[in-house]
Amino acid sequence: MIKNKPLLIDQPFEKWQFEGLPSYRIEQVREWIYEKGILDFTKMSNLPKDLRNGLEKEWDLMPMEVAREQGARDTTQKFLLKLRDHQFIESVLIPATQGTKGVRATRLTLCVSTQVGCALGCKFCASGLEGLKRNLSTGEILGQIILAREKAGKRIDNLVFMGMGEPLANLPALIPALDIILSPKGIGIGARHITLSTSGLVPKILDLAKYPAQIRLAISLHGGDDQTRNKIMPINERYPLNELLEACEKFIDARKKMITLEYILIKGINDDLSQASLLAKHARRLNAKVNLIPYNQVEGLNWKRPEIAQINSFRDLVEKEKAPRVTLRMEKGHDIDAACGQLRLQEHTIIKNK
Ligand code: SAH
Ligand code: SF4
Repeated sequence: MIKNKPLLIDQPFEKWQFEGLPSYRIEQVREWIYEKGILDFTKMSNLPKDLRNGLEKEWDLMPMEVAREQGARDTTQKFLLKLRDHQFIESVLIPATQGTKGVRATRLTLCVSTQVGCALGCKFCASGLEGLKRNLSTGEILGQIILAREKAGKRIDNLVFMGMGEPLANLPALIPALDIILSPKGIGIGARHITLSTSGLVPKILDLAKYPAQIRLAISLHGGDDQTRNKIMPINERYPLNELLEACEKFIDARKKMITLEYILIKGINDDLSQASLLAKHARRLNAKVNLIPYNQVEGLNWKRPEIAQINSFRDLVEKEKAPRVTLRMEKGHDIDAACGQLRLQEHTIIKNK
């Protein structure tokens, strides 16, 4: 990695120390960054010029630049972001209209990356195709949110850690980022509006259960038994299904909050109705929501989404077998490869989009 100046937002603002600077000046810098979204010292117009220059000399403020911005027909926007060491990640901004007639409001959800690539190698996923390049730093996680908020011109309502990478494999950078995301003096998004998705890193789920804020947890289940999960998720050999379900129980016990079981439907792999029964059984055991996601095709991989009739029968059976709450999520951003699991390392993206 190219050694730059240290990145200021890698550190919590409470710990910022600028030689000899009074605290109101530090507070001004914090306001520029977290309230105004300015990642450029030269634009901090209420700071004296020599101070701006001094800060500029010692610190980097911009963790990434937007290398490409793509909008989809449904106005989902995908940002290809170039990090300081020239690695690429992506984040995706998804608007959704909520509410009833008369009081409809558009809510913005940002899908955030936590790693460059992913080490866990789920066989259906684009992000894991080339393994893990590196973890993102705290500032690189925060930077995605600050930049997307600037691009959107308004606040971001929800965060889902479902971009590139496995969030629970990068807790040392993610936890300090979450602290700043949650802080009203930082990004200021409430815990109930933040979802972490994991493929099932059991010990890390138990670690996360100790985190004080009530962030939401989604488990990428994708199979009702070990045999099915083993076919597509190598992580299941390390942490088999029953260990995963037990960890979920402990998490729920500590939190008293419903979790979500995500289940992508892949034709001929995990869409058999016997799997629907098993999924309903696990959902009942955990009192968990079920989110069914028809598979998004990934270029270069042979997996396919089931026919719509099969998807509907699968959903009907999960409902009939009394899973507490079932949703079927039709992806947004499909046409720009911005849907779940379609985020992949830049080389491909660039070539494909040329
Ligand atoms: N690593 C974490 C979070 C990132 S992936 C995890 O695996 O949970 C976010 C979600 O997208 C996961 O549920 C993942 O299984 C799903 N996903 C991956 N590839 C997909 C694809 N091609 N189509 C639909 N969902 C996919
Ligand atoms: Fe990694 Fe999640 Fe993709 Fe699996 S689904 S390879 S854990 S990003």
